[in-house]
Amino acid sequence: MNLTSPKTIRQIQDKFGFTFKKGLGQNFLTSRDVLEEIADAAEIDGGVMEIGPGFGVLTQELCERAEKVVSVEIDERLLPVLDYTLKEYDNVKIIHGDVMKLDLRELIKKEFGEQKISIAANLPYYITTPIITRLLEEKLPVNNIIVMVQKEVAERLSAREGTKNYGAITLLCRYYTEPEIITKVPASLFVPPPKVDSAVLRLRVLDEPRVKVKDEKVFFKTIKAAFSQRRKTLLNCLSGAFPIAKEDIMGLLTKAGIDPKRRGETLSIEEFAKVSDMLE
Ligand code: SAM
Repeated sequence: MNLTSPKTIRQIQDKFGFTFKKGLGQNFLTSRDVLEEIADAAEIDGGVMEIGPGFGVLTQELCERAEKVVSVEIDERLLPVLDYTLKEYDNVKIIHGDVMKLDLRELIKKEFGEQKISIAANLPYYITTPIITRLLEEKLPVNNIIVMVQKEVAERLSAREGTKNYGAITLLCRYYTEPEIITKVPASLFVPPPKVDSAVLRLRVLDEPRVKVKDEKVFFKTIKAAFSQRRKTLLNCLSGAFPIAKEDIMGLLTKAGIDPKRRGETLSIEEFAKVSDMLE
């Protein structure tokens, strides 16, 4: 069953009386090349968890390559469709649920044991940032996270310091992973086409966070403060967020060799680590 074909998608819609729900980000991918790129980039070695299978187009590709695929879908109407489209595969399990509400650590342990897995998803855009934040902060046993996201989001998550796209979420990704845009995907390759273009982003999870910090909470608080008002200097942003006298913060920054007049977006992750260790 070729689920990349718009004709097949229409036939399945007719068979099951299925209509797309915009609110659930239901835009289905119709490019075999992109599917293959996602599956290649996932560097599958054993198990894969998928978020949002839709009609199962990516799920099929993952089933071809993985020992086991566990796929979480929120929309109950898709369960009979997936039974039909995935009937040839005996290495897939569909879980009906909201990925934001499931205990993912527990789920991975139950389904994959001690194995580290890959996560692959053509994400519903309304939960892109919360889901990526969750996947990273929970420190799940994961090697690789491959996600299709809005192009601008992929650019933000993989941005370099000093660029306008660089922000707190970039640093979260860089702390835990090596982010890389694998390919850009025009809106025309989805049914129905979304309003924006997309990109496939790989977050290759590092064995250890990229920098060593004394206290992760202070590290992320420092970053959040530094980007809270992009036009303010680092000194002003930090003195608004930490109960430390401005002169003292100025002294700490100068001692660390960081000009207090710089803006947050110019600091590298190593410099943020240095600053947060001094504020701790
Ligand atoms: N994987 C398919 C593809 O590539 O064509 C469909 C991707 S579509 C962009 C997003 C899918 O995520 C839809 O099937 C939607 O129902 C599902 N979804 C939306 N919110 C979800 C949530 N909170 N938890 C699990 N699945 C969700």
